[in-house]
Amino acid sequence: MLNKEQFADNHFIRTIIEEDLQSGKHTAIQTRFPPEPNGYLHIGHAKSICLNFGLAYVYDGLCNLRFDDTNPEKENEEYVNSIKEDVHWLGFEWAGEARYASDYFDRLFDYAVGLIRDGKAYVDDLTAEEMREYRGTLTGPGKNSPYRDRSIEENLDLFMRMKNGEFADGSKTLRLKIDMAAGNVNMRDPVIYRIRRARHHNTGDKWCIYPMYDYTHAISDAIEGITHSLCTLEFEAHRPLYDWVLDNIPAPHATRPRQYEFSRLELLYSITSKRKLNQLVSDGHVSGWDDPRMPTISGMRRRGYTPEGLRLFAKRVGISKSENIVDMSVLEGAVREELENTSPRLMAVLNPLKVTLTNFADGQTQSRRAAFHPNREDLGERDIPVSRTIYIEADDFAEVPPKGFKRLTPGGEVRLRHGYVIKCDEAVKDENGKVVELKCSIDHDTLGKNPEGRKVKGVIHWVSAEHAAEIKVRLYDRLFTVERPDAVRGEDGGYLPFTDFLNPESMQEITAYAEPVAAQLPPESRWQFERLGYFVTDRYDHTPEQPVFNRTVTLKDSWQAKA
Ligand code: ATP
Ligand code: MG
Repeated sequence: MLNKEQFADNHFIRTIIEEDLQSGKHTAIQTRFPPEPNGYLHIGHAKSICLNFGLAYVYDGLCNLRFDDTNPEKENEEYVNSIKEDVHWLGFEWAGEARYASDYFDRLFDYAVGLIRDGKAYVDDLTAEEMREYRGTLTGPGKNSPYRDRSIEENLDLFMRMKNGEFADGSKTLRLKIDMAAGNVNMRDPVIYRIRRARHHNTGDKWCIYPMYDYTHAISDAIEGITHSLCTLEFEAHRPLYDWVLDNIPAPHATRPRQYEFSRLELLYSITSKRKLNQLVSDGHVSGWDDPRMPTISGMRRRGYTPEGLRLFAKRVGISKSENIVDMSVLEGAVREELENTSPRLMAVLNPLKVTLTNFADGQTQSRRAAFHPNREDLGERDIPVSRTIYIEADDFAEVPPKGFKRLTPGGEVRLRHGYVIKCDEAVKDENGKVVELKCSIDHDTLGKNPEGRKVKGVIHWVSAEHAAEIKVRLYDRLFTVERPDAVRGEDGGYLPFTDFLNPESMQEITAYAEPVAAQLPPESRWQFERLGYFVTDRYDHTPEQPVFNRTVTLKDSWQAKA
């Protein structure tokens, strides 16, 4: 459930909106989230989604979902569907139907014809390479194309023929006639149409010319009556062009949109670029876009992150114009914090050591009921069965205990969580001297009460071998071993491939034992395994016959200690 406190507050965009509402400039706000359907959404998009949909929610406005689909070769329906699913899963509803820039292709074309008629656009024959030469540099002006002064009639004729497929791909463009000497290179006669014979996921083969991003985006915002068009800082220098386009077409809507920029989120030990994430998928470094190690929304979902956790993270990283580089521990912290009060708890043993309870007695040794969560009665309770053989975590026993070790040692005592105090009478070893079994005795007078005359400090988790469910557990860790895998330079000064820094230990699959309830869960059921971390039943592979759990996050930030 959403509430208005869940979103970043006290930031400059909220101030602008509040002023606009107060002054009566707008009576309601309208934002949009405009992904290009050329990949799955990632954590950076989650920030933008929480901003755009969050603002609409907080100020009782509306937010559109608009697919910015002007590059047909890279876009497809699978991406469209995954994006819709992710936005819904994060907890948001877009206004009306999802929209597509391609819905506006006819209108965009008409506006372009209008610009030609007004002498503000021309058909250019320069090749891409020539165009680069003519564009000038950041410090020096560009120069006019020899085709810049074509007559309006000729431009109209050529543009129609571009549309009708008379010219080869890339042989002509339509450009705005602005100023080749402008200090801002984006204003040096930007291309607004190119010829590209490519099948479009929405419009099929209807078009062989496609409009460019800046032109399309400004007009799409205007058509939809967007009030605040929020984008990342790299578009700051495009804002004059955004405004130029809107200044030079007949207004499609009474509301004139304004563009505002905020900084992109960068997540350390991760990657926030669809192109690079795509490479991880297509090169087989991960099992797919929704691999639980991926920083994609669908990957994080499969990993066990919650929409609430991601929204909390987005609130914490905030909105500003300054650098937004955030450590993974901030994301993991938000996820952990949110899971703490919402996930029921059970016991599971990942690295089992067999323990024989030598004085186990049928009829005398009892199971105990215990709540699934210490302060959430509503999550219910269960029996924790016990039998002669139980498993404990191998590292909860130490033959030679390090200083301060409070768990099981030869001759020592420990409490079984929700069970008895036991004493280790003997460690059985194999021929290599490895401890393979413990023989322990139960103090039958300790169920639910302290032992007589002594203190037992340690408490360990365990499961009954006879009753336990055998489960598969996927232990996920960070996908990369360095903070900024795409910014490491080699000896020659160039960037090294980010794939050089993949963590070879980012996934380990083991067989483990858990309380019987583990075999009765639906997919995407989130649990705390006591003392170990948060785990989720896999969205796809988990079945009651073969339970599969993914480790979402450990209970503490172990990475900091390791590094
Ligand atoms: P990528 O470089 O990963 O392809 P993009 O910006 O090209 O990202 P779009 O589909 O165009 O991806 O993005 C949709 C919206 O999400 C845009 O408004 C964009 O500004 C925003 N967005 C994308 N990446 C981030 C990020 N890292 N932090 C904040 N917002 C982002
Ligand atoms: Mg983009």
